[in-house]
Amino acid sequence: MKKEFSSAKELHHYIASAIAIYDQAEANAIGFIILNHFNISRTDVLSDKKISFSQNEKLEEIITRINQHEPVQYILGETTFYGLKFIVSPAVLIPRPETEELVDLIIQDNRDKKNLKILDIGTGSGCIPVSIAKNLQSAEVYAMDISKEALAVAKENSWLNDVTINFLEQDIIQDSTFKISSSGDKHNLDIIVSNPPYVRETEKKEMQKNVLKFEPSQALFVPDDNPLLFYEVILDFATKHLCHEGKCYFEINEAFGEEMKILMTRKGFWQVKIISDIHGKNRFAVGELIR
Ligand code: GLN
Repeated sequence: MKKEFSSAKELHHYIASAIAIYDQAEANAIGFIILNHFNISRTDVLSDKKISFSQNEKLEEIITRINQHEPVQYILGETTFYGLKFIVSPAVLIPRPETEELVDLIIQDNRDKKNLKILDIGTGSGCIPVSIAKNLQSAEVYAMDISKEALAVAKENSWLNDVTINFLEQDIIQDSTFKISSSGDKHNLDIIVSNPPYVRETEKKEMQKNVLKFEPSQALFVPDDNPLLFYEVILDFATKHLCHEGKCYFEINEAFGEEMKILMTRKGFWQVKIISDIHGKNRFAVGELIR
């Protein structure tokens, strides 16, 4: 490896060209993420700021791991979501931009409502409840996951971002109770949100190596013959625990917009909407429970 880099642009150029497994645009983007980790900003690169960089060994290790398809977010142990910093490990899915859109939808819809009780099912890194709690400050926020390791990461993220979340270790498939200390009441949640596993096993062949090799399959995949499994179970949970006019917000597989609309309507939800993501794909389902 080259020993001396005198400017930020030179260093960025070196990193981007050393990344061999992605196209130029992706390699450039990863280069910015890596430099940011070393406190060198995009502006430093664009303005060709003079630097003295001395972490060559660390950088070389990062590049080697990237070239072995490991996601940059796992290598650095962090990512940004909805403008906030999150810790990530291979125990959790790397937060996706689509999920930022889901969070934004919930925040915009509920900006003027006070003291909402909100539950995220299958929270993973906690990116959903943490960013909601940060932006809807009067909300009481709960987050559930089956994985102890994921909950440990989510908890760290709540501390990192200075919000209070109530965590529940629970398998939604096996257990449809909602045990919270503040009240044993039924029908007391205002919002249930979930980005559950929704990728069919058959879709694996279209997926990138970095996802397949490194991300937790438990957070991603559903059987081909039961792709809406988690939504069914969550909607049943929702009919027990949502209040009158309580809402469900889901991220969904783009292939199942129509099926989700039918399923939610069948489970007793009204005004069911299927909403597109910025790529124009059916990505979110929202509905309201009328009791
Ligand atoms: N959008 C994710 C992906 O493409 C899937 C997220 C999920 O299964 N909930 O890998």
